[in-house]
Amino acid sequence: MGDFLFLETNAIVIIFVMLFLVGIIVGSFLNVLIFRIPLKEDIAVERSHCMHCGHVLSWYELIPLLSWIIQGGKCRSCKAKISAQYPIVEALNALLWMAIVYIWGLRWETILFCICSSILIVLAVIDERTKEIPIGLNIAIGILGLARVIFVLTGLASKSGPWYEYVIGAFVVSGLFLLIVVITKGRGMGGGDVKLMAAAGLLLGWKHIILAMIIGCVLGSVIHIIRMSIDKKKEHVLAFGPYLAAGIYLTILFGEPIINWYLGFFARPY
Ligand SMILES: [Zn+2]
Repeated sequence: MGDFLFLETNAIVIIFVMLFLVGIIVGSFLNVLIFRIPLKEDIAVERSHCMHCGHVLSWYELIPLLSWIIQGGKCRSCKAKISAQYPIVEALNALLWMAIVYIWGLRWETILFCICSSILIVLAVIDERTKEIPIGLNIAIGILGLARVIFVLTGLASKSGPWYEYVIGAFVVSGLFLLIVVITKGRGMGGGDVKLMAAAGLLLGWKHIILAMIIGCVLGSVIHIIRMSIDKKKEHVLAFGPYLAAGIYLTILFGEPIINWYLGFFARPY
């Protein structure tokens, strides 16, 4: 929060209100991507309509968050239930952005991490549903990684390490995952997870991507065990993407203090 101390309270409030509003608007666009990317539909071809009765939505039914709440989660025309995924994705996108700006302040890295967290939401929901990570999403995160290296080289990045940390980051966890894919012949994990960790590794650097992997694996195993014990009938195929996405996001927020705390154990007392 130190970054904001030079701003007046009013300015800080305006920044976060704007982040929330733009965040839920972009969140409603993420819902469109989540629905259409797996269908390989063009993004802006059709007008949004009710999945159940085909009722074309008017502008007041398309207000992020608010429309769903006012309509009680139902279509105005046929009263069919509208998935809670829509308002959750909208609110989540806004909250993730606000948390990143709160922790990272106003700097170039913040923009990359906000875009990355939006992509991760889309990636997590699609992977959970289809058990596949669309290649375009991994490429988009890879481009953010390249941008961070360019920011470092041009001196725009004010809170980053040397460039090679990020280049190494692209290979450490993805290399390990690739080995697991080869050894287990693709049963342990998918190629999408390998590419995700390569792309995110370029964005985060090698220390942070290792932490993201650890958080993702712990979250994945704990939640998977809980879900298997609650629901015994279903056959459980673990989509790893959502947990890796959570690991990457939490590392963006809290990686720095966690890594410094860990490295503190190895500091020699003089
Ligand atoms: Zn309807």
